[in-house]
Amino acid sequence: MRAIVVEKYGGVGELKCQERPVPPLKANEALVRLHAIGVNYIDIYHRTGLYPQTLPFILGMEGAGIVEDVGENVTLVKKGDRVAYTGRLGTYAEYHAVPEAQLVQLPQSLSFEQGAAAMLQGMTAHYLATTTYPLKQTDTALIHAAAGGVGLLLVQLAKMRGARVIATVSTEEKAAQAKKAGADEVIIYSTQDFVSETRRLTANEGVDVVYDSVGRDTFEGSLSVLKPRGMFVSFGNASGLIPPFSPLLLSQRGSLFMTRPALAHYTASREELLWRAHEIFSWIQNGALKLFIYARLPLTQAKDAHQLLEERKTIGKVLLEP
Ligand code: NDP
Repeated sequence: MRAIVVEKYGGVGELKCQERPVPPLKANEALVRLHAIGVNYIDIYHRTGLYPQTLPFILGMEGAGIVEDVGENVTLVKKGDRVAYTGRLGTYAEYHAVPEAQLVQLPQSLSFEQGAAAMLQGMTAHYLATTTYPLKQTDTALIHAAAGGVGLLLVQLAKMRGARVIATVSTEEKAAQAKKAGADEVIIYSTQDFVSETRRLTANEGVDVVYDSVGRDTFEGSLSVLKPRGMFVSFGNASGLIPPFSPLLLSQRGSLFMTRPALAHYTASREELLWRAHEIFSWIQNGALKLFIYARLPLTQAKDAHQLLEERKTIGKVLLEP
């Protein structure tokens, strides 16, 4: 089978398309023939080594396809089932052996593309808005990189929960898309100071929660726009890691709360995984949640997908087709 392999950490040049054997199955695994592959920012962290893996490895954390074969102990899925999943490295390939507990049945009315676009970014938006900081109607949330894959979904979920959403993005085109997703106000943080703008928009009160996936570049400002006892949710590092700091800073900025969550800990049990996936699927089915697909590229062009994402050109989701 064809697969995109990383043998050495580095730039997009380290993405090598290789012939690999179809993976053998363990007793609890199902062999999925991939029909759509989700590209996510975490794939860049894996490629560069920011989140180290054992080299060499096949990249990719999200996919949807058909079960081709099952291990001897598998009971949750059967051959021919349409499934979607995240949380298992190795989706930039034609086949993938996946523990059955990570697979979710894809409803007939959803396409493989929708499945591969919804699992990682959709369930992330879900846990951030419903569990990490359960948004309420009286809340104001600041969402950075709001026209990104997670961003556009998080804006929609925050609005579904009735919160006021202030969004940040880097371009006018992204601002228009964030507005379309429901953002109440959009700040173009590449040209506007998001700290003073957020203060102005909140009559100097600040926001209840900041969802920050940008990291290094927005960290300081994010702490400055929170209300006393507000929640700083740092869930990514697209601009680089937040440098080490003293917890005293949280006290000085107003007894702030900070968390650094990861999807794996919010889908650790089968029950929680199914709850989040089924809610996301049902909202896509009934039209409450819209997926924005920016680009579909052949698997062999994974380099181009990474380049687009890293250069901040994408709006919404990028998919690869095996
Ligand atoms: P996005 O589609 O959001 O792409 C990243 C966006 O970050 C860019 O489009 C860009 O938007 C913004 N950005 C700001 N500064 C930079 C920079 N220096 N370089 C590149 N991009 C920058 O990606 P995803 O939706 O896949 O992921 C979003 C973030 O959420 C990532 O940080 C990811 O790691 C994190 N994440 C965390 C999870 C968790 O459970 N903790 C799960 C899923 C994602 P703009 O141009 O508008 O600034």
